[in-house]
Amino acid sequence: MDFIFVLLLGLLWGSFANVCIVRLPENKGVISGRSSCPKCKKKISWYDNIPVISYMLLRGKCRICNKEISTQYLIVELLIALFFLIEYFYFGLTLTTVLLFILTLALIIIFFIDLKHFIIPDVVTFPLMIIGFLKSFDPNLNEIFPNYINSLIGGCFGYGIIWGVIFFYKKFKNKEGMGLGDAKLLAVVGFWFGLESVPFVIFLSSVIALLVVLPDLIRKTKKMSTQIPFGPYIIIGNLIYLLFEDKLKFFVI
Ligand SMILES: [Zn+2]
Repeated sequence: MDFIFVLLLGLLWGSFANVCIVRLPENKGVISGRSSCPKCKKKISWYDNIPVISYMLLRGKCRICNKEISTQYLIVELLIALFFLIEYFYFGLTLTTVLLFILTLALIIIFFIDLKHFIIPDVVTFPLMIIGFLKSFDPNLNEIFPNYINSLIGGCFGYGIIWGVIFFYKKFKNKEGMGLGDAKLLAVVGFWFGLESVPFVIFLSSVIALLVVLPDLIRKTKKMSTQIPFGPYIIIGNLIYLLFEDKLKFFVI
């Protein structure tokens, strides 16, 4: 029974994430105002706005204009439900699980915004840093989380390392390789999982980024200097770290 509840919770929050992904880059409020079709701008009825089910019933098309609804909506809902289920499976009904729900929800929102708009909104990263630091004062949480000293050092280290990359890139190549958004995102990683998580996440995200970009580099459709949003890779790296933290550390030590 619990699993069905967590699944529904994930789908509902996934639906909220979709609203954030569309409206945050436009600086619109995410609480008020009904959703509308991005193509015909007509308001969507509640019965056409039920996570996953409405998408299936409407066969991925808007009821009014019949244009296709992006599969991204479906992917976001399913992805968040999946992570909620995994986290509940790992950590049960605990404060750790609730915190991880918040983190995953926020990271997936950032993932899709950065992918499309090349921005990482401060309204998401700043609260995440604060929650990540404050939660470190609770000694009863799961040991995947660091204590507050480790959290603080990790946050500063995460921010500092990307800031350093940006600084040297500007100085020697006179170009902007990464944005401060990436620095804030890596600060989030450090605040949440401590100092030792930062090198792991940098390594994982760089490898994945390279694997994704490599085919384009070989076919020469992209150059080494082509701008790619790095935020999504940091997020994938962080989610992998979250799921396999124990095994990763075991692997290295
Ligand atoms: Zn429409």
